[in-house]
Amino acid sequence: MSPVNRHLSPRPIAVIRLDGGRLCLDFVNSIHDRYAVDVEDYLQQPQRFIEWCVRTGALRPDDGVRAPRAADKRAALMREVATLRHHLHALFAARIDHQSPPANAVRGLDRWLHDAWASLSLGADGNLHWRVDARDARLPLKRIALDALDLLGDSSASQLRRCANTTSCGWLFLDTSKNQRRRWCAMETCGTAEKMQRYRQS
Ligand SMILES: [Zn+2]
Repeated sequence: MSPVNRHLSPRPIAVIRLDGGRLCLDFVNSIHDRYAVDVEDYLQQPQRFIEWCVRTGALRPDDGVRAPRAADKRAALMREVATLRHHLHALFAARIDHQSPPANAVRGLDRWLHDAWASLSLGADGNLHWRVDARDARLPLKRIALDALDLLGDSSASQLRRCANTTSCGWLFLDTSKNQRRRWCAMETCGTAEKMQRYRQS
């Protein structure tokens, strides 16, 4: 796991870019410039994590979930966020690089999936619902795990890409473009940065 520093004035959750193309990828991309020396973690405390989850739909307004108050629970939640994110990145990166996934990442996601399935129950209406005792700050991580499973088991996993800016960015995204040649997480950020660099070198 790369060292993650706390930034004194973190960017507002509302302006964070969501370029991954689906929830589990945006979660993995919640580290700004993954390969930078001084890494900025968008989700560096529980309140920001909850806010990010509401923005991305990992939490819904009717879930009624809040950040835990007790210091030990807050710390435990942030450890779980960081570990699942680390494991999902490893699983997606392995898929992109045509390598076998690391065993600890497989075990990590597997645990979350079983946890998620155990948190769901069939309601009187015949639909799956999150159990009342599962409506806590770990709920979004279960949704993210299920989304990752959906992606890995789906043919769209072949559209998984890593941003071509591998000196700093390293974000992952789904290439849904027609010609399947999207190179950047976003043209406005990494695409432009490379164009500027080429311009300066010429
Ligand atoms: Zn990028």
